[in-house]
Amino acid sequence: MPTFDRLLTPLAVGQAVLPNRMVMGAMHTRLETLDRPHERLAAFYAARAAGEIGLILSGGFSPNAEGVMEPGGPLFDRAGQLDEHRAVTRAVHAAGGKIVLQILHAGRYAKVPECVAPSAIKARINAWTPRALSLDDIRRTIADFAHTAALAVEAGYDGVEIMGSEGYLINEFAAAATNHRDDEYGGSFEARIRFALDIVRAVRERLGDAPMLIYRISSIDLVEGGLSGAEIATFAQRVEAAGADLINTGVGWHESAVPTIAASVPRAAWREAIRNVKQAVGIPVMASNRINMPEVAEELIASGVADLVSMARPLLADPEFAKKTRLGLADEINTCIGCNQACLDRIFTERTATCLVNPRAGREIEFPAGRARVAKRVAVVGGGAAGMAFAVNAAERGHAVTLYEAAARLGGQLNLAKAVPGKAEFNEMLRYFAVRLAKLGVDVRLGEAVSAASLASGAYDEIVLATGVTPRVPEIAGIDHPKVVSYADVLSGKVEVGARVAIIGAGGIGFDVAEFLLGDARESLDADAFFRAWGVDAANAGAGGLANVANVANAVNDTTPRRSVHLFQRKAEPLGKGLGKSTGWILKARLRRANLMMISGATYDAIDDQGLHYRVDGAPQVLAVDHVVLCAGQLANRALHDELAARGIHAKLIGGADVAAELDALRAIDQATRLAVAL
Ligand code: NAP
Ligand code: SF4
Repeated sequence: MPTFDRLLTPLAVGQAVLPNRMVMGAMHTRLETLDRPHERLAAFYAARAAGEIGLILSGGFSPNAEGVMEPGGPLFDRAGQLDEHRAVTRAVHAAGGKIVLQILHAGRYAKVPECVAPSAIKARINAWTPRALSLDDIRRTIADFAHTAALAVEAGYDGVEIMGSEGYLINEFAAAATNHRDDEYGGSFEARIRFALDIVRAVRERLGDAPMLIYRISSIDLVEGGLSGAEIATFAQRVEAAGADLINTGVGWHESAVPTIAASVPRAAWREAIRNVKQAVGIPVMASNRINMPEVAEELIASGVADLVSMARPLLADPEFAKKTRLGLADEINTCIGCNQACLDRIFTERTATCLVNPRAGREIEFPAGRARVAKRVAVVGGGAAGMAFAVNAAERGHAVTLYEAAARLGGQLNLAKAVPGKAEFNEMLRYFAVRLAKLGVDVRLGEAVSAASLASGAYDEIVLATGVTPRVPEIAGIDHPKVVSYADVLSGKVEVGARVAIIGAGGIGFDVAEFLLGDARESLDADAFFRAWGVDAANAGAGGLANVANVANAVNDTTPRRSVHLFQRKAEPLGKGLGKSTGWILKARLRRANLMMISGATYDAIDDQGLHYRVDGAPQVLAVDHVVLCAGQLANRALHDELAARGIHAKLIGGADVAAELDALRAIDQATRLAVAL
């Protein structure tokens, strides 16, 4: 069994001592947009503190109105707000934790008309053009950072983190691309980093020595005109000299054309950029991005990359990450799979963050832990995401659960998903459920297609059906032709697909199949392969850490696609509109460089020996293909439900068996957890 001695060793940060090297990174949750926001935030962070995380970094709060992320976004600039923050700091301290407030001025990323920046240069990801700060504005902004830092300490925070990465205001000052000033805050490298250093000095002066002062530096900018690795190392030294106790690291700007945290990024891919910072300074350095298991974190510390690790999404996925690490229960950690579906994709579409693998995240008040008043005998049919999640949650509440799965292994559709390049993290979800089911004593019956008669025998107080879905077979002439295969046959490896392929249906699964047929799994597992594919200079030698800027926007085209693949949909709109906001662009960029042809507005006429006959705008066409893969959605599998109903037995439906349309693991696990909590 692996040991985590380094992760579990206390660390002095300034005058504070952290009990271990595991830190919850800053993440904006949007909980403040709900009712009882401070109570919810307090419960959210207190659960992580009780889970023994060494330090929590709050979501970012702007020091003034022009720096907010969006209208109504988090802002901490006046004493009247102290009490709402005290609710959070008290809860964290009562649970034995420490919490630091992150101060984040969004600069030209602020989605407000009054946004500001070092120079009036619009970001491609914002509709608003920023106003260039005057010298007076700069001095006022520095004072605002110090003011918010003082308020934070008054509210009980153990210190502050100054957000200097991801392309926000401070980063914009440091990079030549976004700073065209000709005063003392622009021009030379030394002048461009002055704004950051003035803020660090002003905050330190205001706070004195006791509170922690953390600075988050961009370890690699991944934008044209960003800093080089050598400049970043010097910058880190200056930050240390200005009074920081700890340097946290960020990766890339939000406008970068390189993915930085999605599951398609290999674990700990950014280690050398972080090591570059670590080697430059004497104060502790924190690693971040795609660190989701204690083994990864321990290795980063052991190999001298960093002194501690920051994990944001993994702490959404499992508030007890640190405690389980200490107790030798790492195999019970509910691992973040890097999908972004319930966290970033929801935040970017103005919804509150939660977690696909842990729907309790951010909803700690709605989902109280604890045992049910009456323990019941429960049968669950179907061992996919919904069935496993229900069984685990019901067993945790003290119910006696029997889980029937007709196949020889658990996982259902997850077993198909994990075969797709970039989705290997689904293996962790399967491991988590398998370990928890075993430890909770759930009676798992594999290879057992339970009958309605057996379920109706009276052995169970409750019957829950998670019987999943059946692929839809569209009505097209020749649909029985041997060329036609289902996505399940392809992803399971049952069918060896030829060199010319048509995919019918461009939902999440159609894109998954395209990636399966064209993608390269190494790119999400091996950092060198990833860097080559996305044009990153592993040595971070030039500006922004880009190997070849010209290649990055369209990505590198140095491999010949293995196949010719055409992806079809009937809707006239562009393909992929329903893909996740934070990951869809990555998938589409990869597939475009593999020459995936995307065809919308198609009508399917027939499939025969010649191939797929279809029309676009009325014009008949024939595509010669070896295979046509059906990804045309699914239908709920309710045969067992109907048989039970005929016997007068009411069974509860969850997951795809309940509603097949637009089913995904997020909805399945959420629904399963809610039902288990209500049982
Ligand atoms: P889906 O998203 O509903 O897509 C089904 C596709 O089939 C659509 O492109 C639809 O487009 C087409 N279609 C539907 N009925 C058809 C018919 N009768 N004949 C021909 N084409 C038809 O379903 P899915 O791709 O199976 O995915 C299921 C769920 O899993 C989705 O909610 C998806 O979000 C989720 N998922 C998510 C991911 C992810 O990465 N987040 C990955 C895989 C799956 P037209 O009607 O325009 O032809
Ligand atoms: Fe991780 Fe996905 Fe949960 Fe976000 S939703 S924390 S990426 S598992």
